[in-house]
Amino acid sequence: STADSEGLKDKLDRQGVKYLLPSYVDMHGASKCKVVPIEHFERMMSGSELCTGAALDGVPQVISDEEVAAHPDPNSCMIQPWQPEVAWFASDLWCEGKPFEPCSRNIFKRVLADAAEMGYGLNLGIEAEFFVFREGEDGGYVPVSKRENLTKPAYDIPRVLENLPWLGDLVDAMNSLNWDVYSFDHEDGIGQFEIDFAFADGLTMADRFVFFRRLADEIARKHGAFATFMPKPFGDFAGSGAHFNMSLYDLDSGANLCVPGPEGDPRNCGLAEVGYKFIAGILRHLPAISAVVAPTVNSYKRLILKGSNSGFTWAPVFQCYGDNNRTNTVRVPSSGGRVELRAADPMCNPYLGAALTFAAGLEGIKEDLDPGAPHVENMYEKSNEELERLGVTMLPRTLGEALDAFEADPLGKKVFGEKMFDAWLSYKRDEWLSYLNHVSDWEKQRYLHFF
Ligand code: GLU
Ligand code: MG
Ligand code: MG
Repeated sequence: STADSEGLKDKLDRQGVKYLLPSYVDMHGASKCKVVPIEHFERMMSGSELCTGAALDGVPQVISDEEVAAHPDPNSCMIQPWQPEVAWFASDLWCEGKPFEPCSRNIFKRVLADAAEMGYGLNLGIEAEFFVFREGEDGGYVPVSKRENLTKPAYDIPRVLENLPWLGDLVDAMNSLNWDVYSFDHEDGIGQFEIDFAFADGLTMADRFVFFRRLADEIARKHGAFATFMPKPFGDFAGSGAHFNMSLYDLDSGANLCVPGPEGDPRNCGLAEVGYKFIAGILRHLPAISAVVAPTVNSYKRLILKGSNSGFTWAPVFQCYGDNNRTNTVRVPSSGGRVELRAADPMCNPYLGAALTFAAGLEGIKEDLDPGAPHVENMYEKSNEELERLGVTMLPRTLGEALDAFEADPLGKKVFGEKMFDAWLSYKRDEWLSYLNHVSDWEKQRYLHFF
């Protein structure tokens, strides 16, 4: 409301904010904006800032003449911790007086409205894994973790503590925004980290994740390094995931509906029946979901069972669900009461990824789907014959396969709307074709002088 916005302007003034960013994302989930001096706060809040729709990836050129207006959400306001004279807002895009159909945030809001009609609110936590590097000579990159320990990097104490100067700054910055970081660690790749912070309602979490990618990079840059959200920068180490942790809550009471009631959970994962239906919906649409939550050529180099010399990668490869064991694409972590989608990686547009995933889960509830028995064993150790007998298939192996699945699944178009569906698919098809036309060093080394 206007009252909220007025209070907000005074607050930002008092904190020394001079510039406002009425920001919105393109189809990749990258933030774009015009910069507005704080004197124009009210105009900005009423949607004064226009941009040309066609300047965004993911907006079809046919509507290139349309101007879209950014409507900032006052609840999303964040003072940029590395640059406190600037405050960022997540905005919805509007066009000709109505919500702009292909705006990612609007796409997610349509799914949230659908859930609300069923009486559900949607909670989301995104686990942020990423690598931090310094620029090397000749354009290369060098991990910030220098110690050549003989032990595996995962949960390593010397490596996490040698990085505390920038990691501590990043955690402080996140906590200054009230994100409630509860732990962070060195991950299994060299120079790979994970920061875990409290879940929130889906829209808030998607806004935060979009902001987080810039925040982590800016803080790393203050320390002469940079953060990358490329899922698999090293072929021989584990990659970065951005696991979605999801639950449904009662819109009236706020109670988590995925926690089993007094009757317990006969399937023993610690999940209420509604959660299993939600999982069944996700499994039905998993190949299409993969395309959106693992949206790059590089994403599929992460979704592999074994690294070339580093053992298991803990990345999902099978289309199945289970209890706490990490070899399932969808799992119920041991604390129960939530569903984790492990296929997601940090390159994803969190609005689009969450929109499609939650829409699939809601469909599972509406249609009363049953995901069958959970897989409680290590799926990595199953032979191909066993997998076949169990009816467990693999996730798409390449971006190309994932795009085929996305195109073939009617849920994609239903959730994205026709314009974003077409624009997203055509951009991604071009990306895949460009990759197919690339000849890599690996190929030259392997085949050039073969005979
Ligand atoms: N880095 C792993 C991935 O690619 C996940 C490791 C973990 O479970 O924390 O998803
Ligand atoms: Mg992790
Ligand atoms: Mg996880």
